Amino acid sequence: MKTIATQLAQVLGDASRVITQPAVVERLSRDFYWYSPILRPQLDGKYADVAVQPISAEEVVAVLRLCYAHDVPVTVRGAGTGNYGQAVPLQRGVVLDLARMDQIEAITPDGVAICQPGVRLGALESTARESGWELRCYPSTIVKATVGGFLGGGSGGVGSVAHGGLRDFKTVRAFEAVTMEPEPRILLHESDDVHGILHAWGTNSVMTRIWLALTPAVEWAQCAVSFPGFDAAFDFGTAVATDTKWTKRLVTAFEWPIPSFFSPVRDITRDGAALVFLLIANSQAAQLESLVSAAGGTVTYCAPYAGLRASPLLSDYTWNHTTLWAMKSDPAWTYLQCGFDADPVRARQQLETLKHRFGDDFLHHIEWTKNGTGSVCAGAIPVVRFRTPEYLNDMIETCRANGVFVANPHVNYVEGGGRYRADIVQLQAKYRYDPKGLLNPGKMLTFHRDESHAAASEEPPA
Ligand SMILES: Cc1cc2nc3c(=O)[nH]c(=O)nc-3n(C[C@H](O)[C@H](O)[C@H](O)COP(=O)(O)OP(=O)(O)OC[C@H]3O[C@@H](n4cnc5c(N)ncnc54)[C@H](O)[C@@H]3O)c2cc1C
Repeated sequence: MKTIATQLAQVLGDASRVITQPAVVERLSRDFYWYSPILRPQLDGKYADVAVQPISAEEVVAVLRLCYAHDVPVTVRGAGTGNYGQAVPLQRGVVLDLARMDQIEAITPDGVAICQPGVRLGALESTARESGWELRCYPSTIVKATVGGFLGGGSGGVGSVAHGGLRDFKTVRAFEAVTMEPEPRILLHESDDVHGILHAWGTNSVMTRIWLALTPAVEWAQCAVSFPGFDAAFDFGTAVATDTKWTKRLVTAFEWPIPSFFSPVRDITRDGAALVFLLIANSQAAQLESLVSAAGGTVTYCAPYAGLRASPLLSDYTWNHTTLWAMKSDPAWTYLQCGFDADPVRARQQLETLKHRFGDDFLHHIEWTKNGTGSVCAGAIPVVRFRTPEYLNDMIETCRANGVFVANPHVNYVEGGGRYRADIVQLQAKYRYDPKGLLNPGKMLTFHRDESHAAASEEPPA
């Protein structure tokens, strides 16, 4: 591997961007897989031999050409905030760290950001707002996570209640991505062609230039509302999330005791009470307070949103940050990713069934989300107590038996995570663009390296 490191330095003409120090390579090989008590023992101790930091698509091409020639695995990395071990190299090789490809090329007059993949989402949001635009959706890791990592491994987040997830409504307009072939190509993927590479965990191409649709910026207010019971919080959240008269970016509900885990903002929680966090148009804040009173709730906090430096920053407690606060309180907590029935009455029944079956081992945390057909449903990232793998599986099976969708976050392959497409376009793209299976190997289980396909076939096997 020393040879590869030396050759990488020659290819880049800059040895300082080829990292071989074991401690640094190890750090660049990790993500948040330790969130999962199942993945932790599987992925502890897995790391690459060398990390390389290209600054241009041409350098990515050069690195992939070299690695293809020497059969060296390549795992792409944004900021390493993924939580299924997506960016953990299973078969050593090279970590392709794109943090230095962090240029924002343009915010077009019609609201499309054009940028390199290593741009942090927080930086893109701030730049977009200077021109009157903002991100349609972003993960709660916005400050650290990169655009490329979000497209490669994420799905949605803050903003999804209004704009759906990343794969919806043509939010990802296009990208250029580099193939892993004897002579790597930079291919432009537009429109529906993006879906073969989106959320493929860097297993079939490396995105190097991205066109992301934005939405007009809004002056937001952050609000927290407490309710004596979770049912009232759920009904209130449903009312705000589904009624188009509300301009919103975030509607989140937590069952008690989840709010007790939020130590820095305990003053806006109430003992024993369920909590709803919202980002709502500042112009509608007063109107919202009337709805809260009518629903039997209490506004515990409401103030104009001052951007990502706001204190408190309520999104830091939502989406998968909620699990982090729970784990800080007690490492036995972990999580699932669920989707409840579109009919709120049926969703309430599903929530009650799970509560009845698992009691305080299954704490409800709802994130309302618009789906690709335009209806707003209760998505969820419940905080669940880990006792044994069998008990966790029982929770997953009980959800599914009751019609609750589960994207299992305790598996380390694309097909198991819930965002794998039934039309297998991600697999087809892998056969097409990574015939030797060198990109993030081991993460797409249905792919089988076949030397006849390694010889540059354009079609997947029948
Ligand atoms: C506390 C916490 C909260 C989170 N909240 C959310 C949330 O609200 N919504 C959500 O969707 N996710 C969430 N996540 C998961 C994660 O933060 C997001 O998926 C994030 O967008 C990943 O960005 P990253 O730059 O860290 O990517 P990484 O973790 O570095 O990479 C993610 C995957 O994308 C691949 N990849 C990276 N760059 C490229 C590229 N240029 N081309 C091809 N593939 C690439 C990697 O190989 C890897 O498989 C959360 C995670 C944590 C720990």
